[in-house]
Amino acid sequence: MPKPLLKLLKAEVMKKVVIFGAGFAGLHICYKIRHLIGKTIQLTIIDPRKFSLLKPSLPEVAFEGAPISHSLVELEHTIASKGAEYIQDEAVLIDANNNTVKLKKSGDIAYDYLMITVGAIKDYDAIKGFREYGYSVCDDTQAQRLWERVKSFDGGKVVSGAAKSTWGTRVDAPPLSAPCEGPIGEIMFMLDHYLVSEKKMQRKEDFSIDVFTPGEIFFEDVGDVPRNAVGAIMQERGITLHTDKVLKEIGKDFIAFEDGSKMECDLAIVIPPYSAPQFLKESHIGDEKGFIPTDIQMRHLDFPNIFAAGDIAALAQPKLGHIAIIQASIAAATLLKELGEDVKIPPHDLEVFCIMNMGGDDATLIVSNVLYGGKTDLAVHSPLAKMMKWGFDSYLYYNKGHMPPDFALEATDKLFKLFAK
Ligand SMILES: Cc1cc2nc3c(=O)[nH]c(=O)nc-3n(C[C@H](O)[C@H](O)[C@H](O)COP(=O)(O)OP(=O)(O)OC[C@H]3O[C@@H](n4cnc5c(N)ncnc54)[C@H](O)[C@@H]3O)c2cc1C
Repeated sequence: MPKPLLKLLKAEVMKKVVIFGAGFAGLHICYKIRHLIGKTIQLTIIDPRKFSLLKPSLPEVAFEGAPISHSLVELEHTIASKGAEYIQDEAVLIDANNNTVKLKKSGDIAYDYLMITVGAIKDYDAIKGFREYGYSVCDDTQAQRLWERVKSFDGGKVVSGAAKSTWGTRVDAPPLSAPCEGPIGEIMFMLDHYLVSEKKMQRKEDFSIDVFTPGEIFFEDVGDVPRNAVGAIMQERGITLHTDKVLKEIGKDFIAFEDGSKMECDLAIVIPPYSAPQFLKESHIGDEKGFIPTDIQMRHLDFPNIFAAGDIAALAQPKLGHIAIIQASIAAATLLKELGEDVKIPPHDLEVFCIMNMGGDDATLIVSNVLYGGKTDLAVHSPLAKMMKWGFDSYLYYNKGHMPPDFALEATDKLFKLFAK
């Protein structure tokens, strides 16, 4: 058969897969299905950012002055090297009945399969006074701005915590009050370490750190073992915890809560509420809050050719990179199976797995699945955890967002479980 005709026929049978969002979940789906790119699928990845942001290393930017470049993965060449197409643009409306998405700059794009991996919006503007007086660590701009403030901080009262987020009810996911409190752990311990070790300040005399949570308990996504381990270190370092505090306003020298209480505050560092992007709400494919409702194979409950994974998926609770990766693997496998590939779809077995950086050589590894009815609940506070965090973040960065191979992750998991016994 003449080559141009063969090419035309191939193009006709090729399925067009479009991924919106090249964060943890979007890149992972691309890497999982790349062997089909150009053979049975045409893959396009769309993201308004030129660089994917590796958020787990942002606390090092904010509290250790690490260069932001180490948290960024360049997208154009990375995606092209997999044989996929990258378009720097953003989705503004999904027409799920006609399989098209309107892009901000480039017009409409059609798809056979759509992967929604756009993450969640960090809604700083939902907090009165945040833009004038508040600080955060949730994106590249905020993390660098916080580092400037931390360097010039000459003592006083620090208050940190997560604002309350609210979720839809279409899927059965744990209704956590905060999207993810791991970064609050990093904020309090890394800042404490910096002020004591680098600035030679005295706890109580020169500064204090108060932490609040909107929930009845802090770290509500794990069980007693990690919670008590973190609680003991907070006590050791004189960090005070306040529960049931729903953030209302940040002022010049105070922070105020919905229950009418106020705390004096010279430096407020918060995780804002997470919300779904406006375009998903306007596309009417989300739940009451705009998050995407899926089954446990990450397929949209109403549109079988749409998948979601990561922070935007209603089933992702808490909002964690580890969970984004589990769900991205499931979504990719479900798609591959549908395209006739002989693959096993991994189970939607979620767990909280994170390494909390605590400054210097200190870190705590937390692995827990009690939120989902499991029995694993451990915390390993050791320089080994710090080494693992460094190794993991470096691997991600130097391998352009690729996860370490499964065997390495499983071996590490087993090692830590042994260590925790
Ligand atoms: C400070 C901090 C520390 C963290 N530390 C950890 C940790 O140690 N371990 C852990 O497991 N998790 C951690 N997390 C959570 C983790 O970063 C997120 O859960 C993870 O990034 C979610 O991945 P995602 O792919 O769903 O979304 P994201 O990584 O947010 O990626 C979404 C992508 O979609 C793009 N996008 C947005 N809107 C559109 C649009 N309209 N059209 C096209 N593209 C769009 C964005 O530009 C972005 O690139 C941390 C989070 C923070 C904030």
